[in-house]
Amino acid sequence: MNYYRAKYVLPIASPPIEDGVVAVEGDRIVAVGPHADFNAPMTDLGERALLPGFVNAHCHLDYTNMAGKLPFKGSFADWIADIVVLKRLWWTKDYAASASAGLAALLRSGTTTVCDIASSPANLDLVANTPLRVLSCLELIDVTGRPAAEKFWERCAGLSPHAPFTASKELYGKARVFCRQHGKIFTTHAAESGEEAAMFERRTGPLYELLAVLGRSPEDCGHGSSVAWLDDAGALNGALVVHANCLSDDDVARLARAGTTVVHCPSSHRFYGHPPFPFERLRAAGVPVCLGTDSAASGTTLDMRVEMSDFIATFPSVRPAGVLAMATVTAAKALNRDGLTGTLSAGSHADMIALRLTGATPDLAEAVIVGRDATSWMMVDGKVVHNEL
Ligand SMILES: [Zn+2]
Repeated sequence: MNYYRAKYVLPIASPPIEDGVVAVEGDRIVAVGPHADFNAPMTDLGERALLPGFVNAHCHLDYTNMAGKLPFKGSFADWIADIVVLKRLWWTKDYAASASAGLAALLRSGTTTVCDIASSPANLDLVANTPLRVLSCLELIDVTGRPAAEKFWERCAGLSPHAPFTASKELYGKARVFCRQHGKIFTTHAAESGEEAAMFERRTGPLYELLAVLGRSPEDCGHGSSVAWLDDAGALNGALVVHANCLSDDDVARLARAGTTVVHCPSSHRFYGHPPFPFERLRAAGVPVCLGTDSAASGTTLDMRVEMSDFIATFPSVRPAGVLAMATVTAAKALNRDGLTGTLSAGSHADMIALRLTGATPDLAEAVIVGRDATSWMMVDGKVVHNEL
């Protein structure tokens, strides 16, 4: 048994403990409590906060080195066209270097678990040797007419049909059934932009025109929102829906009924200037919202504290402790890891970070969120994977 002591322990699922201790045996946490409860030699993490590593619910690690290469010029369709061109110019070694840079950024900024969207089967192995908990979801696109490579599905943590405008209803249906049968994560981008709404609801706009040029049939457009389209495809139940910026009241009701969780990516949202994220309406309907970074191609640093700070700036009525939960325990639940990560509690994986708290705020969650110091110490699965104490 190993014991880790810190000035503050933030279990997230229970109140903070001043001068607290986390006891770890093997890869699991076995006890959390005040120092007075433990009488054993221990590792002292000093004047730091000890908390679960952040859980990034949506990221594209293999796009990390696209940072700054794809400026947004006002049209989402143009941006999609630009990234398709850039992706064709990259070699496997470029994607490998990019994914490595992404993993380094996560480790530096305290993320221990990430739901990563691998853009191709060839990129699934790029994250194989990291100590971080990477849940690789294979991106599925069949708008080009190329069938999805189903032989890779078994070894993924989940599947991610890209979006209703790039994946067919048949592919969504098949992937959803596979994930349900195999207990895998099912996630997709949806209702992200005004252009996507125009395409599905009104059969018009730059995205509609781009997809028509690529040969996508327009038959399924003009009948309702992309959320209704997903519902019709049987793809909403229990899904992790990324973005969900453009939602009618009917869409919100569908997301709630289907038991979805929404992933909001504040930096990416700001980068594209999407319509305001309807957080209050989702909250009122009981739809859980967690946070992700999306990719560095759309303006994020992959630092979850930056995403949390951005969220608080937009939604100041949400308490910092609530926002910290969105980046830990809520995301873990959405990724089928409830009680296994995103919290410091008996039985969960020993995935934790120690951060130096800066600033004058007495609110510990706020102090964690506003801090930008690199992670001092990180443990994943009971192993110390980074130590700068
Ligand atoms: Zn994304």
